[in-house]
Amino acid sequence: MHHVSLEEQTASGLFLLPRGGAVLRQVDPSLHRRKSVKLTNDANYNEFHEWNWNSIDSLPFAVFVELTMEIKFERFHLQSDLRSPLKGFEKISVPTEVRIDPLTKRRSRIITWALPPQEKFDFSKMVEQSKECIFCPENVHQKTPQFMKEISPEGRVSIGGATGFPNLFPAGTYGSIVVLCRDHLLNLNQLTPEIYEEGLSLSVEIIRRTTIFDPDARYWQVSQNFLLPGGSSILHPHLQVIGDPLPTNEMGWLLDASSSYYERNGSHYWKDLIQIEKELGKRYITSMGKVHWFVSFAPIGFNEVCGSVEGHGSILTLSQEEIASLAKGIVSTLKYYDAKNLNSFNFSIYSISAETSHQLLLRIISRTPFQPNYLNDCTSYEVLQSELTSNVFPEELCREIRPYFP
Ligand SMILES: [Zn+2]
Repeated sequence: MHHVSLEEQTASGLFLLPRGGAVLRQVDPSLHRRKSVKLTNDANYNEFHEWNWNSIDSLPFAVFVELTMEIKFERFHLQSDLRSPLKGFEKISVPTEVRIDPLTKRRSRIITWALPPQEKFDFSKMVEQSKECIFCPENVHQKTPQFMKEISPEGRVSIGGATGFPNLFPAGTYGSIVVLCRDHLLNLNQLTPEIYEEGLSLSVEIIRRTTIFDPDARYWQVSQNFLLPGGSSILHPHLQVIGDPLPTNEMGWLLDASSSYYERNGSHYWKDLIQIEKELGKRYITSMGKVHWFVSFAPIGFNEVCGSVEGHGSILTLSQEEIASLAKGIVSTLKYYDAKNLNSFNFSIYSISAETSHQLLLRIISRTPFQPNYLNDCTSYEVLQSELTSNVFPEELCREIRPYFP
């Protein structure tokens, strides 16, 4: 069970609102200078009562709100009471936390129990069965599709060990594959910063050539689906580089929310968030030049780590140094996942040009590992209720993953 410590509450200025909203205690008196924010319809801000902090865990329902500048970190404490067969049918209380994303207001559910870790999966049989791979070096320059001549007269593009070509099965206007390396399968701890630097550089080159051809393609994702749980049928490590003249849902939500934040506050959401996260220190991992790495307050997937590049909305304007920093952060995260016996993941870079309020964002999440009794991590919560879940507290993840970053 996760306990919110008093220090944590006091340092960040938390409100506690038990069921019904009748009692509210302000922890940090300095918050008086801040403008009041309505928590719920029945919150009464004029009524401050003493509250016994030690009893938080016995509350069936509570709301915590951290107020820092205009960015709110809202948490709902939920609790389920039952008589457990594992403890002689004694009463136990199982907490769950619902967090509201400070930008999009989307809810995430942090579940405080997790299945025990599994042993590492042996992929040798799958490697043997997938020998006829079109991404392997003997096939990649023969059997893969070629770009239209206007984008690449040579048909395919390469940088170092990375090769790019159009996706034979695209799902939009411009869909490309970037094969990351010559190796058919690499474990998460074998993927190197050099591999990702070459792959991301090649993605930028494809996007550059495409947008010269079609400037309306402003919305791009550079993503990776790794292994079957990540949605990839091909083991060979590769990226998806996908561009359209219209945004994906996620890009649209990020854009709408960040531009209305900009209008309301006259400041940049991501700049403010990074400053706050740096000050709080609970979820901020590190910075590499202008690339900031942090853990989301309200994650939309397991073990979610974010990287954001100050001063850039589009991947096209990144310097080589910034591309290298993104590559390093991806690899650091993958090393942590590997240490946790995870073997599958997704990441996406959200790249949008000509939008003042947007800042380039990379999100990486782990998927439930591929194993004999594979358990899909998209339940009715995710696919039908649009409520995304995570099985680790962001602050715990941040503490654990920091040593993996340079
Ligand atoms: Zn291969």
